[in-house]
Amino acid sequence: MKAAALIETRTTCPYCGVGCGVIAQHDGVQITGVRGDPDHPANFGRLCSKGANLHLTTLPEVAQTSRLLAPAMRVERTAPIQTVAWDDALNHVAERIAHTVAEHGPDSVGIYVSGQLLTEDYYAFNKLTKALIGTQNIDTNSRLCMSSAVAGYKATLGTDSVPCSYEDIDHARVLFISGSNTAFAHPVLYRRIEAARAANPDLKVIVVDPRRTDTAAEADLHLPILPGTDVMLYHGMLHIMLWEGWIDRAFIDAQTEGFDQLKAQVRNATPAEVARICGIDQAALLEATRLFATHGPTLSLYCQGLNQSADGTHKNAALINLHLATGQIGKPGAGPFSLTGQPNAMGGREVGGLANLLPAHRDLSNPEHRAEVAAFWGIDEVPTTRGKTAVEMFEAARSGEIKLLWIVCTNPAHSLPNQAAVHTALSAVPCVIVQDAFASPATLKYADIVLPATPWAEKDGTVTNSERRISRQRAVLPPMGEARHDWLIAAQVAQRLAARWGRLRNGFDWADSEAVWKEWREITRGTDCDITGMSYAMLEAGPQQWPLREGETVGAQRLFTDGRFNTPSGRARFVAQAYKPVADRVDAHFPLALTTGRHRDQWHGLSRTGLVPKLFAHAPEPRIEMNGADMGRRGLREGDLVRVESRRGRQVLPVAASDAVRSGQAFVAMHWGEEYSGGAGTHGVNSVTSDAIDPVSRQPELKHAAVRVSTLDLPWRLVAHVSCSLTDVQPRLAELRLLLQDAEFWTLVPTTFGESSGITLRMANTVRPAQSVLDALAAVLDLAPNARLLRYSDAQRGVERRLRVVAQATAATDAGGSGARSISALWLSGPQDALDAEDWLRSLIDTRQDVSRLGAALLAGGSQAPMPVQARGAAVCSCLGVSEPAIRACLAEVTGTAQERLSALQTRHRCGTQCGSCLPELKRLVAQVQPATAMSLATGVAPEPVAAAPVK
Ligand code: SF4
Repeated sequence: MKAAALIETRTTCPYCGVGCGVIAQHDGVQITGVRGDPDHPANFGRLCSKGANLHLTTLPEVAQTSRLLAPAMRVERTAPIQTVAWDDALNHVAERIAHTVAEHGPDSVGIYVSGQLLTEDYYAFNKLTKALIGTQNIDTNSRLCMSSAVAGYKATLGTDSVPCSYEDIDHARVLFISGSNTAFAHPVLYRRIEAARAANPDLKVIVVDPRRTDTAAEADLHLPILPGTDVMLYHGMLHIMLWEGWIDRAFIDAQTEGFDQLKAQVRNATPAEVARICGIDQAALLEATRLFATHGPTLSLYCQGLNQSADGTHKNAALINLHLATGQIGKPGAGPFSLTGQPNAMGGREVGGLANLLPAHRDLSNPEHRAEVAAFWGIDEVPTTRGKTAVEMFEAARSGEIKLLWIVCTNPAHSLPNQAAVHTALSAVPCVIVQDAFASPATLKYADIVLPATPWAEKDGTVTNSERRISRQRAVLPPMGEARHDWLIAAQVAQRLAARWGRLRNGFDWADSEAVWKEWREITRGTDCDITGMSYAMLEAGPQQWPLREGETVGAQRLFTDGRFNTPSGRARFVAQAYKPVADRVDAHFPLALTTGRHRDQWHGLSRTGLVPKLFAHAPEPRIEMNGADMGRRGLREGDLVRVESRRGRQVLPVAASDAVRSGQAFVAMHWGEEYSGGAGTHGVNSVTSDAIDPVSRQPELKHAAVRVSTLDLPWRLVAHVSCSLTDVQPRLAELRLLLQDAEFWTLVPTTFGESSGITLRMANTVRPAQSVLDALAAVLDLAPNARLLRYSDAQRGVERRLRVVAQATAATDAGGSGARSISALWLSGPQDALDAEDWLRSLIDTRQDVSRLGAALLAGGSQAPMPVQARGAAVCSCLGVSEPAIRACLAEVTGTAQERLSALQTRHRCGTQCGSCLPELKRLVAQVQPATAMSLATGVAPEPVAAAPVK
């Protein structure tokens, strides 16, 4: 049969705020591949490891087992959930909302949405909440990442207006990267930084980050400030600028106000005091200030390190102060450029889909703005009081103030801080509606009503990236099962409520996403984010930046070029605020400062990247990273299990030594929720994070928690590595999670073995679990004792080793049998030394080496393999599956300059030649691994290590 011709559809990546253009190749039924859109100005054809694997999240065998495909309801929380017809589900949602409003008033309803939604979805939910239900209680998970940036821009520039474009990277002479591991969080933008450095050797990169991230390690200057001391740093820089006469007095006089108060504020921020409080070198502080003020144009790139803080608004404002004081704004290569975390965090901000905003940057506290919006929507008035923001909304659910929560496209049972409180809230609230595309989120178990939504490949609409650029996201495939678009579900509930309440009857009868967008477009007229000159047809030709007013043909690349700002006086405002330390202070009881961040190949709570086993290869399991000296003081060794406790909760994790973490600090990645790791009622990494919020932006301090780390003795251990088909991975994970409820520690992750997929399970307990539990786990893993398994059992020591050995499917076996056999699964359990053979046995699964001659030797245990085994190790290049041992082995053989050795490595293994996300790590390995030819021929001993020149 002739294969269907492949179609190419232009769309946008749904992960980070870079907003890369994607070309999806498909046959109308399945997406077979993706590539970067060479014509999209955000990425010019590049994709990172996440974007390049997008198609793997949509494979039919994955989608069938991971998607919500039909609406469902339960009569009470403890009853099983049952599939229902859409009409029944929508009627029930409308009925529950109407009943709640009638009994308790509109503010008893809370709607919690997501920066993953398209602008059209956001607009529909915002209108439903504010115009029809009559409450401001709509907030978004963007509150967790962007609201301090919004508040910082408004405080200084007058509106939430990002002044810069990606192109400014090419014009800058200084990049001041603050609180952003750009190499991991915005990889394609980082590729652009690498290209700018290659094109302009005079470009200086300064990174401010408590950790020595890949971004920091490659910088010309790294300021490893102590967590939360950013405002002090910026005040100190301004102090030095004033002292040295490095400010732009003419700009300050003509275009700003409030400088004298700020001058007074920074008077005591002397270099010595700032160096002491920030924990940095005074000379580095002076050099960073000199570069910022005199080597420019200077472009600041910043992200969650500033925003996720109980003082995030002032951190943003204090950095913007530096740009205003030096006149570095509104010019090519200069400006304060906040990078957005999610693909459409900006769209949500524009639409005003947050508890304190109105559409198109209108202010809730401004009566004229409220009147404009009310008139546009055809209602008497919009609610006047600010609604509940993310953390507050769940507090209100816990206290009984909120009676109904509608959670859309987000997983608060993972992503909000202080998870114990969030789970209490979800248990307490009488009605939880979960609208999502995926069946995995931890929040789902609290749902009374489940509404299946369309994900990335099926959605149609628009998103706005970090540089105000609006792109089309296009449906590549038809909705799977009964899934519906988010805007449509909101509209269909709204139509039912409108009919019941007799108002806004025609307010939600949009025919398609374009109709929603056109209504949204009209409400922007006359505002700073006016897009009345834009249309879907125009966006067909390419994305556009806002504002783009009626009659204009191209959007604004840069804002404030005329020196006029969006304040009543037209002048930008300096913000003078004192430095405040972190909310959750370290002390003798909680002596470590825990920071959070990202893995290179994962996205948020893993509901999508978690479907792609190979994306786990770079960081296969959760862990807490600590400085080696701190581990030594606690008697901890690599891989030991530790109890991590804060004032709110605890989590159990393996510990790993890291040079990137300073003494007194620790780090965990944000991705690991209770779907992947847990034990004894904990709820993932956010069990310990802080829900202290910024008083202005209401953003919680997810970036810092005071913790203590202590040894945990869980002597009984189990590890299982099981190769299985991709179709089996998600269902088996779901079954296994249920069986692990009583374990004191467990991790459960998808994995890869060479080319095939599989599962890794780890478990630890004080005592051996009940045999029935072990039998059930083994049954799901297909490792229950049977004649096909190699098995060793020592009942006295409680040691159990099982190996599944299979005939290798080769041409020889097909023709009569070569007899070659390889291991496809292993189970090791008992005291810790029962797991000593894990590494080499696991490597045998990866390499599918023939083990037919080894027999019982495979079960002997011990860390020494009975045969030569190729070492595995974490994959550095996930695109091509190149592991760290392979890279080290190659680098030991090649000589030359750093650049020549990198080229030789890439010629041999091609690592880093596809998406490029691993390039910073490759360069680090080039610097670390000395060529073996440098060994002394006389002694056979390697000479003292020398610092290799880094590759830029
Ligand atoms: Fe997607 Fe990566 Fe581009 Fe971000 S940088 S939009 S995750 S491809």
